[in-house]
Amino acid sequence: MADIALVGAGICGLAAAELLQRFKGNSVVLIESSSQFGTGSTMDQHGWFHAGSLYSLRANMASVDAAVRNMNVMADNYGWFLNAKARGGPERALGSWFVERQLQYIFPNAPRMNDGELSPSGSALQTLRNFVELSPRIAEAEARLGSLRSMDRVLGGLKVVGADMPMKTTQILLDLAGSFIAHGGTIRFCSRYASHRRCADGAVEIGLDDGSALKVDTLVITSGQELAKMPMVSGRVTVRKSPVMVSVPTLCPDNFVLVEDEATPSLSHIVHACDGKSYSVISGGYSAAPSDGAEQERCGEALRAAAATYFPTRSRDASSRVFFGTKVDVAVSETLRDYSPGIMELDANVLAAFPGKFSFSFMLADELARRVMDGAVVPRVRHAPARIDPLLIARARHETIARAIFAASRPTPSRGLVRVHPTAQTVALYGT
Ligand SMILES: Cc1cc2nc3c(=O)[nH]c(=O)nc-3n(C[C@H](O)[C@H](O)[C@H](O)COP(=O)(O)OP(=O)(O)OC[C@H]3O[C@@H](n4cnc5c(N)ncnc54)[C@H](O)[C@@H]3O)c2cc1C
Repeated sequence: MADIALVGAGICGLAAAELLQRFKGNSVVLIESSSQFGTGSTMDQHGWFHAGSLYSLRANMASVDAAVRNMNVMADNYGWFLNAKARGGPERALGSWFVERQLQYIFPNAPRMNDGELSPSGSALQTLRNFVELSPRIAEAEARLGSLRSMDRVLGGLKVVGADMPMKTTQILLDLAGSFIAHGGTIRFCSRYASHRRCADGAVEIGLDDGSALKVDTLVITSGQELAKMPMVSGRVTVRKSPVMVSVPTLCPDNFVLVEDEATPSLSHIVHACDGKSYSVISGGYSAAPSDGAEQERCGEALRAAAATYFPTRSRDASSRVFFGTKVDVAVSETLRDYSPGIMELDANVLAAFPGKFSFSFMLADELARRVMDGAVVPRVRHAPARIDPLLIARARHETIARAIFAASRPTPSRGLVRVHPTAQTVALYGT
């Protein structure tokens, strides 16, 4: 019998499983309905690691606090991975978790800064003021990570380099999955959680959809949007569809967030690459109800229009596609979305967890581990991660789309090389 089962091998379940498996003597099983790690929202995301700069714009303190705590937890629990690059030897190939080109925050409408003083007024000023006031706090936590990543930070003018940066999603999943396995964890792919019940002996029995059952001491459900539909959870979370635009070739070489004023959704641009070719991934503060197709269409159009405003020529010449992913956040009120991670107790020894952001899964995993292990300090990594077949990690959706665009734009082979037999169909197509 496993001690702990987690349902869902997205970033939330995987990060928590890896940390719980680090406790000596724990036997952890991760149950995943698909045949890969990260097939849910985890691979629909933009690849933007949130250090808190974005939330400081609106002085969203819950999210700023979460981001700062998250980085401190990362420095404590994941130094092994973040330092992997500097270790040399076989672990060198593990690489680091971040792309060392932080997101710039661009305030096109903000007043000029004179000798460090902020002048005029307006909501753009308030946004900028929040950002500037909160930056040192975020930077302090980021510096701990920074020393692990050995990065330089620069600040200047109204183009401000924030602490946020792109992250290497696949590398993070590979490292966590490898560490989970190396510490003795078990993964059950193609295994779907259907129900659970408490047994007379206090254990939790998990019913799988193939009719089999599994008994554990503790169950943690981390199945993302499926979890959000469970009657005990729905109403306590907000579910939104959010558009992401992929453009080939890149619209701009920089990673940035454009912040106009409080009323206008921000626009973010991150450069990703596959097979040595770069492409743009663009998103913004746009989202729609999952059941409202028309609202989603409007959102997608608004994102396209915003990108076209900033890159009128380049976006006209680029091939772009918009896809939608599903975001689940713990609801704080009817209208307010709060991206802090949340843990809910569904039953004795049955917990549900939502990270809100991929980035915050590390802090959530720490909180879950402390809760399940009665406040015990999370132990260090004891074994180097096992080598995981990269095919066991789902591909980022933006990458799949970029590859399709690259493939479609490849020149088609010359007709002269193709021998066409004159069947009735080809005659109809090409004429005689
Ligand atoms: C468009 C978009 C952009 C985003 N951009 C960012 C970003 O740039 N940065 C950031 O930090 N965050 C971002 N996020 C948020 C982030 O993607 C999510 O918060 C995070 O990935 C959620 O992870 P999860 O593990 O909780 O859920 P998921 O990744 O959805 O994982 C759930 C897993 O559970 C499995 N599962 C479901 N039901 C069952 C079952 N019954 N039995 C077994 N397994 C089951 C699924 O197959 C899946 O693997 C973005 C989200 C979206 C949609």
